[in-house]
Amino acid sequence: MGLLRKEPPREITSIKKNTLIMILESSKSSFPNEFGALLREEEGEISEVILLPGTISGNTSALFQLHMQPIDFSIVGSVHSHPSGDYTPSEADLDFFHRSGRIHIIVRWPYTVHDWAVYDVNGNRTSLEVR
Ligand code: ZN
Repeated sequence: MGLLRKEPPREITSIKKNTLIMILESSKSSFPNEFGALLREEEGEISEVILLPGTISGNTSALFQLHMQPIDFSIVGSVHSHPSGDYTPSEADLDFFHRSGRIHIIVRWPYTVHDWAVYDVNGNRTSLEVR
């Protein structure tokens, strides 16, 4: 119908080191509760996290659904913590990934720089360069 062709979404290839550290530190302070936030990109790099007010333990996915309305197109995905120490996505996580955003990070206890994993919309592992 339209003559305008939509540009393909820019690939997200990296995350700012400070942003990753902020995520890990926030997850530590939230422990034993979950931490959840949205991810904002700039020029293909995750550069900012947007905190979700009132994140409740065990209810992160439900809360995300309220906040992932397509108002701000620089918001490209989500991050949340797993206090369990396992960063495998749950069924609810996979369902959420599939419907919202393009890139999703799960961090796991004890939240060191090795305790994070990146998933695409289908829940497959992918990676981000830390810059
Ligand atoms: Zn989860």
